[in-house]
Amino acid sequence: MRPTRKYARFLTLVLGDQLDSRSAVFDGFDPSADVVWVAEVGEEATHVWSHKARIAVFLAAMRHFRDALRAQGFAVDYHALGDSENRGSFATELMEAVRRIEPQRLVAIEPGEWRVKQNLVEAARTLGVPLNIRPDRHFLCSHEEFAAHAGGRKTLRLEYFYREMRRKLGLLVDGSRPVGGQWNHDADNRLSFGKEGPGKLPRPLGFPPDQLTREVIRLVESRFAGHPGSLAHFDWPVTPADARRALDDFVENRLPQFGPYEDAMWTGQPYVYHSRLSAAVNLKFLDPRDAAAAAEQAYRDDRAPLQSAEAVIRQFIGWREFIRGVYWRFMPDYEKSNALGADAPLPWFYWTGETEMACLREVIGQTLALGFAHHIQRLMVAGLFAQLLGVHPFEVHKWFLAIYVDALDWVTLPNVLGMSQFADGGVMSSKPYAATGRYIQRMSNYCVGCRFDPAKSLGDDACPFTTLYWDFLMRHEKRLRANLRMGFQVRNLSRLARDDRAAIRRQAGALRDALAAEARRYPR
Ligand SMILES: Cc1cc2nc3c(=O)[nH]c(=O)nc-3n(C[C@H](O)[C@H](O)[C@H](O)COP(=O)(O)OP(=O)(O)OC[C@H]3O[C@@H](n4cnc5c(N)ncnc54)[C@H](O)[C@@H]3O)c2cc1C
Ligand code: SF4
Repeated sequence: MRPTRKYARFLTLVLGDQLDSRSAVFDGFDPSADVVWVAEVGEEATHVWSHKARIAVFLAAMRHFRDALRAQGFAVDYHALGDSENRGSFATELMEAVRRIEPQRLVAIEPGEWRVKQNLVEAARTLGVPLNIRPDRHFLCSHEEFAAHAGGRKTLRLEYFYREMRRKLGLLVDGSRPVGGQWNHDADNRLSFGKEGPGKLPRPLGFPPDQLTREVIRLVESRFAGHPGSLAHFDWPVTPADARRALDDFVENRLPQFGPYEDAMWTGQPYVYHSRLSAAVNLKFLDPRDAAAAAEQAYRDDRAPLQSAEAVIRQFIGWREFIRGVYWRFMPDYEKSNALGADAPLPWFYWTGETEMACLREVIGQTLALGFAHHIQRLMVAGLFAQLLGVHPFEVHKWFLAIYVDALDWVTLPNVLGMSQFADGGVMSSKPYAATGRYIQRMSNYCVGCRFDPAKSLGDDACPFTTLYWDFLMRHEKRLRANLRMGFQVRNLSRLARDDRAAIRRQAGALRDALAAEARRYPR
């Protein structure tokens, strides 16, 4: 039964990705007069075919947050998925609570997602209750600051934005200059493990499910039985205390090597030296300021080299904020972007991992097992194949949004449409991340033992990435020629004999047809 209190002053709305006890929604909160409203709604798990671990991370984190608030004496009107009264949508649950509690006002933090913000405003209007939306100060760059940065620029580039953020936050700077003299250490940070491999990698700290999380796991297993992914290895942090331990573990054990090996991939090593903190930070129970400060402190104490501290600070305060800025600046039109006119369906193996391509089998298999892949696996394996094949960018987005534990619309959409698929035509990246199978060969051991040869674009053993890469360049030759940063790659096209060009087009077409036929057999 829901705890009810008729006539609250404020109904304080906390959405599933706003689990921050220091958020502005609690400014002026009066436990004797106000009620917190939190709702688990089925539509959030089903509007894309969500990985079971993604659903479980949300629900477990929300329930732990609820209990922490109640322990502080807050009245929490919690709408659990299993409740018989729960009708499964944001609007219906909010209306039910407002009619029952009759608050004078709704107080909320700005939702991260454009669609949810519209729903919230619409619901409040329908209910005739005043709504007070407060800015989300978990983020480090406000909409106004991002607009000022973007103002006169034709295109947006991370590097300039990131330098402004470093100066503004005083991270790794001496006055207005970067510590060590360089803003960017990317050139030192592209190592692979070589033939000998990574050796024994430090295993990230895991968080075995407690009783509350086990209940959630049982609920997800029964209610979302047909959803993709496994819960067998579920060990994500779902409380602020565990997230802090996960951060400390990262800084202590993986940060020193994070920079040099941030692009490296290896079979059976899903995390390499990455932080594994994205879900905790996106659900807001870890503050990106704390993560960046911990990395800087490790450098200042000589526990991590500058190239690693800089690299991870770039992710937390650079990329993450930049991506959010792009989302809010260009939504709602942004989600319709399709600059390259891509229209192929998503291959079915993205949901099963069943493919002869060893790299995709590894990355998708790992994703289904854990709900996680690191950045280069997402960008240069799962995303790259979809881009070269010409999959409709919104279909690619829906897959990424469904399948990763850290996926939320504001972060997935620009990463997929802008960075990975170049569907925005260059709003946030200067060129498509297009590469042959040789890139994957250089950065991983996936090609060892794969039945395809990354050097070949033609023949039965040609690597599909390599065939599709040349086909991609040919299909978009005119547009890419106009892009100065693609000059070298496009000029290489002229090295292909006319017959080879035609043969590659045929082989790529056959591959595309076969994958499309399979996608039609198993529609999703
Ligand atoms: C196609 C594609 C889709 C992606 N979808 C998501 C998504 O849905 N949710 C998500 O959080 N990240 C997404 N990313 C970004 C990135 O891959 C993940 O944040 C990262 O892999 C999470 O692992 P980690 O915590 O170990 O990150 P680390 O490599 O340790 O990086 C540290 C932190 O920086 C932040 N970060 C790094 N890169 C980005 C980025 N490009 N955008 C936003 N934040 C970033 C994350 O909070 C991350 O935890 C996507 C990237 C690509 C290429
Ligand atoms: S040969 Fe091609 S398909 Fe096989 S693992 Fe390497 S890049 Fe992937």
